[in-house]
Amino acid sequence: MKVMIVGGVAGGASCAARLRRLDENVEIVMVERGPYVSYANCGLPYHVGGVIPEESELLVATAATFKGLFKVDARVNCEAVAVNPKNKTVDLKNHETGEVTTESYDKLVLSPGAPSIRPPLPGIDLPGIFAVRTVPDARAIREWLDKGTPFLAGMSKYSGIQAVRPKTRAVVVGGGFIGLEMAENLVHRGFDVTLVEMGDQILGPMDKEMARMVEGYLENHGVNVVLNDGAEAFKQSSTGALEVHTKSGAMHPADIVILGIGVRPDTTLAKQAGLEIGELGGIRTDEQMRTSEPDIFAAGDAVEVKDFGTDEWSLVALAGPANRQGRIVADVIAGRDSRFRGTQGTAIIGLFDGTAAWTGVSEKTLKRLGDKDYEKVYLFPNSHAGYYPGAKPIAMKFLFRKSDGRVLGAQALGEDGVDKRISALAALIQMGATVYDLEETELCYAPQFGSAKDPVNFCGMVAAGILRGDMPISHWNETGDGLVVDVREPSELAAEEVEGTVNIPLSQLRGRLDELPRDKTIHVFCRSGQRSYYATRVLLQNGFDVPVNLLSIWDLKTNPTFVGFSTTRWSLTWGMAKFGLATGWYSKFSRNRVGRTAAPSWSIMWRMERNR
Ligand SMILES: Cc1cc2nc3c(=O)[nH]c(=O)nc-3n(C[C@H](O)[C@H](O)[C@H](O)COP(=O)(O)OP(=O)(O)OC[C@H]3O[C@@H](n4cnc5c(N)ncnc54)[C@H](O)[C@@H]3O)c2cc1C
Repeated sequence: MKVMIVGGVAGGASCAARLRRLDENVEIVMVERGPYVSYANCGLPYHVGGVIPEESELLVATAATFKGLFKVDARVNCEAVAVNPKNKTVDLKNHETGEVTTESYDKLVLSPGAPSIRPPLPGIDLPGIFAVRTVPDARAIREWLDKGTPFLAGMSKYSGIQAVRPKTRAVVVGGGFIGLEMAENLVHRGFDVTLVEMGDQILGPMDKEMARMVEGYLENHGVNVVLNDGAEAFKQSSTGALEVHTKSGAMHPADIVILGIGVRPDTTLAKQAGLEIGELGGIRTDEQMRTSEPDIFAAGDAVEVKDFGTDEWSLVALAGPANRQGRIVADVIAGRDSRFRGTQGTAIIGLFDGTAAWTGVSEKTLKRLGDKDYEKVYLFPNSHAGYYPGAKPIAMKFLFRKSDGRVLGAQALGEDGVDKRISALAALIQMGATVYDLEETELCYAPQFGSAKDPVNFCGMVAAGILRGDMPISHWNETGDGLVVDVREPSELAAEEVEGTVNIPLSQLRGRLDELPRDKTIHVFCRSGQRSYYATRVLLQNGFDVPVNLLSIWDLKTNPTFVGFSTTRWSLTWGMAKFGLATGWYSKFSRNRVGRTAAPSWSIMWRMERNR
């Protein structure tokens, strides 16, 4: 049998290596248009930033490795230019010689990836504007950065005296993970970075209130984040510097522009071969990664996959699914009954000292689907035991089914321990775990690594407490004419008082129960949710038979901007400074620039709502 693989990186290379391990006799030809196979595109931003100094470190395996180790005929600079499913042939163009040859196959695997989107905007092809997809892209960016920018140093622009100054200004267009990673790496290289994002948040898969914290974190690390504004045109000034003109009419000067607008499945060959394309524009396959032509398989960023949580078709450009799909294709070709389970979009991004990660379904997806059978909680557990040095809070959002407790999704950010919590939750989601399973999940613990009750357990405990009725929950916008009781201490109120609420500190609550009405819903809140939970238990057990609700702190309803709420901004900044509320994530992930969104405490959100 002869298997031809198009694309020699994540999906294609995984498929080739796995297939050889399963079958010594199959003939495997892997063609790659570019000069390298199996390179680490995930490492490209860090090569630009200098974290990975040598280009060679990005080359995980070479064509020679594939030949020597796996007996795979790996051909670089070789592009598949046409597929004939009827004759089972592929036309190959050798980019070194220009020669086109035709080669037969028994099974064909397409893993051509997803090139960066490059919209036809005026000036987009000017020198200094780059996408980041391949090793040559990263090399070109590094060379451009190292070259410096010519500028006129003479007395007038007619003097003809030119000098070179270091490049210092960068504009990154697009707030996805490649854009953000590039922004960070350019900051490390000393650039003033402006990130222009057309949408109203960065990191689209996250819910907005969580993305707000990441935006704040970026700003605190020197990235100027511009939301709700798309690049419209690129121009070059007389000195050669670039200008990024946006829809709002703004102009951002730049010595380099990085395009991180997103990717689009490469379906050129698939379309030409008449394969079925899904409504999202990716190659349609079955669970075994077989396309509409039974002898043609597809894997990686080019295919549409089923979302594990929603059962919708989706496009997920991530290395993990691409590698798994490549292996599954190999299994199936080798006669095994492997199937792709779908994806849940588990992803992570490191930004400066912080990490943001998510898995499963987001609340905005649930809302889009009109799904009301869910509940959410926000938690702020420590990354490890608080008494052991170095513990950092993790801000978590956790979503689960109201009806049966199934875990739906989680998002988290912080400076320690985010990755393992989201990874654990991702695995649990894939196993169909419920919040009750999370209560019982046994995770490794010693004080420097976690807590006896790990954040993953906490998610389960809090959610199960809600479902069992131990902790009825309401959200900040659901208080109606109920009484809202603030159980924080007076010293905290001096920093952030919430108008229209009654303050009964938790420490005094048992002695002041007669001040509370028995014919009204009581909503209790504090700063993180812990004390209000304790208060809720006190009230429920003292016979308050009307619903007592624990408020959720971090539910930002619609467009959570603070524009126009100067007192709120003042209060936040002042409060943080005076009372040291700005610990951990709170300071690290909050925005404090005028006209921007700050990471809100509940009371901040309360004011926003009441001022509306
Ligand atoms: C800068 C960057 C950072 C990333 N970081 C992460 C990360 O941190 N985590 C993560 O999960 N994912 C990350 N990704 C995404 C991840 O790299 C992709 O999801 C994964 O590589 C997709 O694998 P693939 O095989 O589908 O496509 P690719 O790995 O893109 O490989 C496709 C290859 O096919 C070749 N090709 C296309 N058409 C032809 C043809 N006709 N003939 C011959 N060859 C062809 C292309 O040249 C390309 O090399 C990142 C991607 C980039 C670009």
